[in-house]
Amino acid sequence: MALRRRSLFAALAGLPLLTTKGHAITPGADSALIVVDVQNCFTPGGSLAVKDGDAVVPVINALSRHFANVVLTQDWHTPDHVSFASQHQGQQPFGTVSLPYGTQVLWPDHCVMGTEGAALHPALSIPHAQLVIRKGYHRGVDSYSAFLEADRTTRTGLDGYLNSRGIRKLYVAGLATDFCVAWTALDARRLGFEATVIEDACRAIDLNGSLDKAWAEMAAAGVGRIRSQSIG
Ligand SMILES: [Zn+2]
Repeated sequence: MALRRRSLFAALAGLPLLTTKGHAITPGADSALIVVDVQNCFTPGGSLAVKDGDAVVPVINALSRHFANVVLTQDWHTPDHVSFASQHQGQQPFGTVSLPYGTQVLWPDHCVMGTEGAALHPALSIPHAQLVIRKGYHRGVDSYSAFLEADRTTRTGLDGYLNSRGIRKLYVAGLATDFCVAWTALDARRLGFEATVIEDACRAIDLNGSLDKAWAEMAAAGVGRIRSQSIG
C-alpha cells in the first residue's frame, strides 16, 4: 500500500518513478541511443570545437552500455561545402547568408569527408553501435538533423531504418546541443518518434542565444530532457 501511495504521488507530481537503484529508465528493444557528431572537429583542438566537447565522451561511453541499439552520426561535408564561410566571398565564420532553403549560419571549414577532423573522437568506444549515418554530404545543402537535410525535404533514411527495426524511443546525446542534437530531436518528434535529450551527455555552441532557444523549441515539441543517471 505504501508503495502504491508513493507511486500515485509520483505520478501526480509528474515525476519519474524511480527504482531502488535510483534509475527511472531501462531502455528496451524499442529504444535507441543516437550519438550525434562526436567528431574530432567538434572537440577541443578541432576547427569547430565545442567548449568541453570531449567531456561528453566518457558519459556517452557509459550510457551506451545500457542500450542494445546505438546509432552514431557524422557530419560529413565536401571540401567546398556551402556551410563553410570560406566558400562565400567577404564572409566570416558565424555570420549568415541567404540560401534557397533559408538562412544558413556560416562555419569554419569542418568535418570534410575522409579527413581526420571528420573521424569519430578516438576515445569514443561503442563497439556495439549498429549504424553510422553520415549527413551534410550534398555540397549545396547543410544538415544539422540526422533525419532531414536543411532543405527540409531530403531525407537521410534514418527514419526508415528505425521504423523497420521497430525502434520508437530515441535518446539523443552528443554535439552540439543547440544545433545537431536539437534539430535531430525536433525532427524525431515530427516523424512520430519519442525523443529525449540527455543533457549532461551534450555540450552546446550557444551562438547568440541559440541554446535557450533550442531548449524552448524542444520543450514545446515534447522532447524530454533528462540526465544520464536516469538511465540504468
Ligand atoms: Zn557541418
